[in-house]
Amino acid sequence: MRPKSVDNVNARFLNDFAEMIYLRLDNSGRILEANNFAKATLQPNPVGLNFSEIFVAFTQTIDPLQAAQNEMTHVPASVNTCADLPRTFFFSFFKVTEGVDVYGEASGTEVLTLQKTLIETNNELSNMTRQLQKNNSELQKLNDIKNQFLGMAAHDLRNPIGAIIAYSDFVMDEAKSLTDEQKEFLSIIKNSSNYMLKLLDDLLDFSKIEAGKLGLDLSRCDYVNFVKRVVKLNSAIAAKKHIQIILNVHEVIPELDFDSIKIEQVLNNILSNALKYSLRNTTVVVNMFMSGDFVTVEVRDQGVGIPKDKIDLIFQPFTRVSKQGTEGERSTGLGLAIVRRIVLGHRGRIWVESSEGEGSTFYFTLPVVAKE
Ligand code: ADP
Repeated sequence: MRPKSVDNVNARFLNDFAEMIYLRLDNSGRILEANNFAKATLQPNPVGLNFSEIFVAFTQTIDPLQAAQNEMTHVPASVNTCADLPRTFFFSFFKVTEGVDVYGEASGTEVLTLQKTLIETNNELSNMTRQLQKNNSELQKLNDIKNQFLGMAAHDLRNPIGAIIAYSDFVMDEAKSLTDEQKEFLSIIKNSSNYMLKLLDDLLDFSKIEAGKLGLDLSRCDYVNFVKRVVKLNSAIAAKKHIQIILNVHEVIPELDFDSIKIEQVLNNILSNALKYSLRNTTVVVNMFMSGDFVTVEVRDQGVGIPKDKIDLIFQPFTRVSKQGTEGERSTGLGLAIVRRIVLGHRGRIWVESSEGEGSTFYFTLPVVAKE
């Protein structure tokens, strides 16, 4: 059966008017004849080529002899054309003596339109990607400038704040000659200045880390003793709130390579948060154990907990669930953002589990084998 559109069509019509490719092939697939439309459409002139050479690279190969023997009709395939775009035709194959007749019906305008739209969309996408890349690099530059400014401002403000703290201490030492009201004012000045200093230090740390200057100084250390020492330091602060800190070491923990100043900052921050957000007469438990090739430190408190919708946010800078601890302790909302970057810099992990009103458990891990 020849395709319907070919039925009753005389050779002249097929040659001069129809939007249809006609090719006569020999048994090896070489093109012996082509109608005018095929010659005008295909690139290069198909006569003399092998049938497979008229198709675009991504089209599946068709064996015309086999296709004719199997009486295949309306097989879609895209050919190279004289216009820029490839065109899809539906090919039908017919066995004739000493060869094969191939008819290719134009696929209709939809495919062409679709191809054009695809190319246009593709171009648009490329333009958008270029614009996004440009915007991204501009944003990165602005971010660098912001970090530079933050670092400079924090650094320059540290000195005057330091002077305020030192002079408040100096006046405090002369407390005998002060009235109670003056002493109270002084203590407010000192508390606010201490908070400001902590905020400036956090900002300075944060801007340094953001600028890619984490600068870890790794050295081999007895991790258990290190944690014991930091816990002991925090126990003195805990005592003021009648909170007990208990340390349990569950396994033999190997020595680790880490930056002791930075990891002390991590542990201090997690412990001081546990104390800050706990009520009096509660307990904070620190557990140390191995998890595969990592050592985990777990800090479990019985404090106010963190709402579910805030858990994923607290490691982001400036996220504070409440502005104060249970006894009015100040918070900057930067501590955990810094801590997270330090732990990740050591190739460790940090996460938290918490339920509101019951308490929070912070975990962080350090690898047994540090990065070479
Ligand atoms: P800061 O404590 O200075 O606000 P952090 O970045 O250390 O900053 O903590 C971010 C926020 O996470 C805190 O403001 C607090 O809302 C919450 N958070 C951290 N640790 C705890 C904890 N142990 N219990 C309850 N909330 C916590």
